Amino acid sequence: MTQPPFIADHAPHPDFNALSDAEFRALARDFVESNYPDIPRFAQHRLRWPEVRPWYAALARAGWIAPTWPQTLGGMGLGAGKHLILIEEFERYGAARVHDIGTVMLGPLLMQYGTQAQQDYYLPRILRGEDIWAQGYSEPGAGSDLAALRTTAVRDGDEWVIDGQKTWITLGADANMAFVLARTDKTVKKQAGISFLLVPMDAPGVTVRPIENLEGHAEFCEIFFDGVRIPAGNIVGEVNQGWTMAKALLGHERVFIGAPRLSANALGRLEASARANGLWDDPAFQDRFARLAMDLADLNDLFETYVQRLRTGAPIGADVGVLKIFQSELYQRISEELMQVAGSLAGVKLAEGGDSRFDAAGTYLAARPTTIFGGSTEVMRNVLARASLNLPK
Ligand SMILES: Cc1cc2nc3c(=O)[nH]c(=O)nc-3n(C[C@H](O)[C@H](O)[C@H](O)COP(=O)(O)OP(=O)(O)OC[C@H]3O[C@@H](n4cnc5c(N)ncnc54)[C@H](O)[C@@H]3O)c2cc1C
Repeated sequence: MTQPPFIADHAPHPDFNALSDAEFRALARDFVESNYPDIPRFAQHRLRWPEVRPWYAALARAGWIAPTWPQTLGGMGLGAGKHLILIEEFERYGAARVHDIGTVMLGPLLMQYGTQAQQDYYLPRILRGEDIWAQGYSEPGAGSDLAALRTTAVRDGDEWVIDGQKTWITLGADANMAFVLARTDKTVKKQAGISFLLVPMDAPGVTVRPIENLEGHAEFCEIFFDGVRIPAGNIVGEVNQGWTMAKALLGHERVFIGAPRLSANALGRLEASARANGLWDDPAFQDRFARLAMDLADLNDLFETYVQRLRTGAPIGADVGVLKIFQSELYQRISEELMQVAGSLAGVKLAEGGDSRFDAAGTYLAARPTTIFGGSTEVMRNVLARASLNLPK
């Protein structure tokens, strides 16, 4: 296979999908064990860019940064089963999650809707870690009802001028680029007047204000746009077609945030804690652990179904909400069991640098927002009720 020029200096890929699952698992395990840099493992919170950058660079150098992108575009081209194995092996090792909004969300969207020039420019920059992306969708009055957004973009000659505010933007302070939904026509139905824009975070008029989460980490931020000018070509798709892209991207996002990695990680902590506390052989605990482990096995299967749809280009379907609900509620149930096992230490947040496998309080807090971000459980249940079960409004 001819390698595209931007990864010409990387070692050539084998055809991962031609390997047996056992061979690929051994390769993934060896990869993470021999390439993981000297940065925290089993980190409970998202590491900031300066901390996680060496791991991103190691993955990028080897061509392993974009598991599901086609190999022709610099990805690994993994099928669903292999992707799951990769997640499992990285989780087992406790590898940190890299800044992946570019690889998981924007990249696939540009492949579908971007111009050739946008693909040629942005995809390699994502692969090399030169552009770190933030997702600028939510606003103070537009979360579940995203189409109510009020940020505007007005055309002025060869530029768009953006004014407004975004909130809850994950790792926005680490990003040098944001994709932003903005209203470009106020006279039409609210979904019909939205466009999808690519905004450099260092453009004059962009202000970022960090927000601390319950764990005390500045995980997300608010972004203010005050007369921000971007080139007219920084629009993806047609003017006023942003809603179509927003929905396509949310489909990818829901598959990704339904990935079993968080639950798998938490179940590993539960096992470690139970062994350390002498509960591992307790029949009542074993019963509860077995239920959680079996639910995780079901989640793996469900995830594989949706990754397979992504790989084959089949529609993801409104039913993808079930994956996100299942993953986030399972993660919360495991975190609650972890609190039981931690006993009198349940409420104690471990100091930085402590053995995070036993950080019950941190896991519990980290699990709370998963039923909110990427679409709240309540709203997803509404969607499932209408779109999949045909229940009346
Ligand atoms: C950790 C985290 C990271 C995030 N990262 C990003 C990011 O990177 N980029 C980004 O753009 N956004 C991000 N978000 C925002 C996220 O997408 C929104 O929080 C989410 O869409 C919910 O919107 P909201 O917070 O405005 O809540 P609201 O929409 O105000 O909802 C409040 C409550 O009302 C319920 N509710 C609302 N409407 C209905 C209804 N019709 N029927 C029943 N119940 C309803 C909701 O379920 C919820 O319980 C993040 C959020 C979190 C918590």
